[in-house]
Amino acid sequence: MDVQSVQESTAVDTQQAKILIVDDEESVHKLISSFLKRHGYVPLSCFKSDEIVETVEKTKPDLILMDLMMPRLDGISATRRIRNLDNGTYLPIIVVTARREVKEMVQALEAGADDYITKPFEFEELLARIKNMLRLKQLQERLLIKTEELNEANQQIQRLNHVLVETNKHLQKKVYDFHNLFEISVRVLRQLEFGLMVNQALINVLGIFTTRSAMLMMASREDNDVFEVVGAKGVSQEVIQDFKIYRHDKLVHYLELIKQPFQIRDISREFQEIIPVLKKLEVEVVSPLFQNEEIVGFLCLGPNIRSEPYSEENLEMLAILTNMLSVALHNAKMYEHIKALSYTDGMTGLHNYRFFRLRLKEEVARARRDGSPVSLIILDVDHFKNYNDTLGHPAGDEVLRKVSTILRKSVRDNDIVARYGGEEFAIILPGTDEVGAYSLAERIRSKVEKSHFHNQEIQPLGTLTVSLGTATFPADAVTVEDLVITADRALYQAKNSGRNRVVQAHQLQESE
Ligand code: GH3
Ligand code: MG
Ligand code: MG
Repeated sequence: MDVQSVQESTAVDTQQAKILIVDDEESVHKLISSFLKRHGYVPLSCFKSDEIVETVEKTKPDLILMDLMMPRLDGISATRRIRNLDNGTYLPIIVVTARREVKEMVQALEAGADDYITKPFEFEELLARIKNMLRLKQLQERLLIKTEELNEANQQIQRLNHVLVETNKHLQKKVYDFHNLFEISVRVLRQLEFGLMVNQALINVLGIFTTRSAMLMMASREDNDVFEVVGAKGVSQEVIQDFKIYRHDKLVHYLELIKQPFQIRDISREFQEIIPVLKKLEVEVVSPLFQNEEIVGFLCLGPNIRSEPYSEENLEMLAILTNMLSVALHNAKMYEHIKALSYTDGMTGLHNYRFFRLRLKEEVARARRDGSPVSLIILDVDHFKNYNDTLGHPAGDEVLRKVSTILRKSVRDNDIVARYGGEEFAIILPGTDEVGAYSLAERIRSKVEKSHFHNQEIQPLGTLTVSLGTATFPADAVTVEDLVITADRALYQAKNSGRNRVVQAHQLQESE
C-alpha cells in the first residue's frame, strides 16, 4: 500500500472513530460530545474513571480523551491501567488537563499517554490532535497487519527453505550416487576381460553400498544349472569353496519370481526356507542378473558397515547396477568367445599368426612412441620332419603342445607367445632389449633340450631341440617387417650353424 492510499483511507475511516471521553464532569462531556458529533465522530462517555478498564473493554473506543484530575482515579493511573491491557491493537490516549502542570503531564506521558492538551483549549486544536492521533493509530494498525503478513510469509519461506535444504541434500546425495554409478559403469564396461570385470564390479559394490562383503555367483560354463562363486570380497575362502546353488533351488525360484534385489529380512513366509543358505554366507541382499529372461547369476551383499538395513534407494541403485553388470558380463563373455575364435591357435591354445602380426605392429608403434625397445624371438623345432615321419603326426602334435607349454611358462604376463606356423613359434617381448631377449631365448633352448619328449633319442642330435633367432627394435630393425625378417635370418643362421642354439641379430650383421 502506498503512502497516498493509506492517507486517503485514514481520512475516511477516522470520521466514524469512537472517542471515549473520560471525565467526571458532565458539562465537559456535553461540550466535547456535541463538538465531536458535529465532526462525524462517535463520542462515548466514562464518568467513573475507576471503571475505565471495563468501559474500554465493552465499548472498544478508537481513542481516549482522558482528564488528568479526577476524584475516583486520576488520569495517570487510569492511563497505566489501559496500557496494562493487552488487547492487540493500539489505543491512543490524549490527556486533558485544566492546569499547566508539567509534572503530571510528564507522568501521564510516562504512563503511556500519547499526547496532551491543556484546558482551556481551542476546539480546532483538539480536532487537529484527534485527527493526528487517529491517523497514527491507523498507520500503526496497518503496519501491524503488514508485519504479521511479513512474519507469516517469512515463516512460510523458512518452512519452504527447510524443505528445500532437505530436498537439496537428498538430491545431492542422489546425484553423487548416480554419478558414482555412472563412473562404475564406465570402468566396468571398459573392462572386457571377465575376471577383471568381476573384480572391478565387486570392489565398486563394496564402496558404493559400504558393505563388508560382496559375492558374485554365475551359472557355470559347463553346467548352466549350477551357480558357482566367480568372485568374492570380504568372504572367507573356506565358505565359498565348493559352495554351489542349483537352478532348482528355492532361492533361484524366488529370484525368478520377484526379478529384483531383495533383502532377506523382507522374505515372505513361504520362502523362509531359503534363509539358512543365505545366512550361512552372511548375505543380507541378493540381486539377480538376467539375460534373455533367464537368471544367469546373482550378486550377494553382506551387512553394511553400520549394520543397518539397506534403504529402498540402495536397492534401487543395486537393481541398476546389477542390470548393468549383466550386460557388461554378457559383453565380456562374447568378447572372450570371439577373441578366442579368431586369435587362438586351436591345437596349442597359443595366439595365432594373425594375432601375432597385429600385436607386433602395436608393440613396435608403442616402442617407437615411448622410445623403449621391443624384442622378437622366432624359434623352430629342429628336425621335426624326422620326428613326425618316424613317430607319426599325433606324436608330432604332442611335441608342439609340449613346446607351447614350455614357452608359456617361460615368459612374463605381458609377453606374447604365438604359433607362427607349422613348428615355428614367435615371442614378442615388449620393453625387452637384446640382452633380455637373448637370455630368455637361451633359457628356452636349454629347457627344451632338458625336457623329456617321447622317443626323443630318434632325433639326429640325440634329443629334441629348438633353434632360435632374436632381433630387437630399434637396435636391429626400424620397421615391423625388418624386425621379422631379421629375427628369421638369425633363426636360419642358428639352423645353419648346427641347430640347438640362439643367434642374435647383431651376430648376423657381424658375420655378413
Ligand atoms: P629344421 O630343423 O630345419 O627345422 O628341419 P625340420 O624337419 O623341422 O623342418 P621342415 O620344414 O623340413 O619340416 C617341418 C615339418 O613339420 C613338416 C610338417 O609335416 C611338420 N608339421 C607342420 N605343421 C605340423 C603340425 O601341426 N603337426 C605336426 N605333427 N606336424 C607338422
Ligand atoms: Mg623345423
Ligand atoms: Mg620349419
